[in-house]
Amino acid sequence: MNELLCDFCSEPSPTWCYPAETFIAMEVGPVASASDGGWAACEECHRLIEADDRQALADRSAALLIVANPEFASVSDDLRRQLGDLHKGFFDHRLGRGAPIEVLHEKMPERRNGT
Ligand SMILES: [Zn+2]
Repeated sequence: MNELLCDFCSEPSPTWCYPAETFIAMEVGPVASASDGGWAACEECHRLIEADDRQALADRSAALLIVANPEFASVSDDLRRQLGDLHKGFFDHRLGRGAPIEVLHEKMPERRNGT
């Protein structure tokens, strides 16, 4: 069981990780993630990142966030814009190519809870 969530759309079990510099991410409702290093991405977000389709990425993030938090529907335009800004931070700070996440797990020192 993999407890990671996609850092873009919050879908469970992301399969890609993008290295990035740590930067101060803005808070967007429940996705107040200070960006600390790499970003996890699900298959669909990975596809959008590779296509550099930032508009679709922000739309997808906002749409899925509203599914999870219907109260955000009334501010969907704001949400989409803020998520776009957040993702811009990622695109500005990313360090090279994404890697399949299985590879990264082996390198994560905090992953040591045995039972
Ligand atoms: Zn995603």
